[in-house]
Amino acid sequence: MIYKTDYHMHSSYSDGRSVPEDYISPALAAGLSEIGFSEHLTLFKDPEDWNMNPVNISPYISHLESLRKNIQNIKIKIGLEVDFFAGKEKEIYDFLQPFPLDYIIGSVHYLGEKTVDLGPEFYEGKNIDRLFGAYFDSVIAAIASGLFDIIGHCDLIRIYGYKPACDLEPLYRKLAKTMKTHDVAFEVNTNGRNRPIADFYPDRRFLYIFKEENVPVCVNSDAHMPSRVGQYFDEAYELLRYTGYTEMAVFDKRVRSMVPF
Ligand SMILES: [Zn+2]
Ligand SMILES: [Zn+2]
Repeated sequence: MIYKTDYHMHSSYSDGRSVPEDYISPALAAGLSEIGFSEHLTLFKDPEDWNMNPVNISPYISHLESLRKNIQNIKIKIGLEVDFFAGKEKEIYDFLQPFPLDYIIGSVHYLGEKTVDLGPEFYEGKNIDRLFGAYFDSVIAAIASGLFDIIGHCDLIRIYGYKPACDLEPLYRKLAKTMKTHDVAFEVNTNGRNRPIADFYPDRRFLYIFKEENVPVCVNSDAHMPSRVGQYFDEAYELLRYTGYTEMAVFDKRVRSMVPF
């Protein structure tokens, strides 16, 4: 059996539909060996209904620790999906430092004051080449910050299908090289299939670059409801195998190791 993990899931502690307990049996049914919760944490912005109130981090961790004690047949990891803001690295580090997390996913949702994934209006009338450039710059800064173990949906800017005219290969190459240099994993995020782009992140045409640069990988569902845990994983693993990947990154107390699949 393939050793499968799903480290990107949202429960009702942020914008997921169910309590963590409800994700266990779908995960077992999907043949997963480990799952991890990664609630949205967005510092420096007004609270939104999709992110977790920071005062709930400790109760969230205690909740998962007790769940972990009671559940023996699957490993439960504790993570966060943290928004990256350039220039706020030290504040983010200081804030996260006290929490006993297994991994931290760093994600870029905001470009300026707005998020890139809350509606296509964001893109209207804008220079798409420039938006892609700005998005990749921010992701590259997130990788280089040393704050994160995994980068979430590294090309989320594709979400509404806007296509830049520029050659994207150099952007993906720089992204992958920076990940390798800073020992950060990327995820194949299968939830893109449920969004307007209707495909995984990152763009499958550029997966070979991550392999050539030897960047560690995870497969994650970004599930916001139990029925999506492990969704499309057979296809994602097949795609990775086709690309030449033979092992996955797993995390424990923020230490990465590799497991063959
Ligand atoms: Zn996200
Ligand atoms: Zn997410």
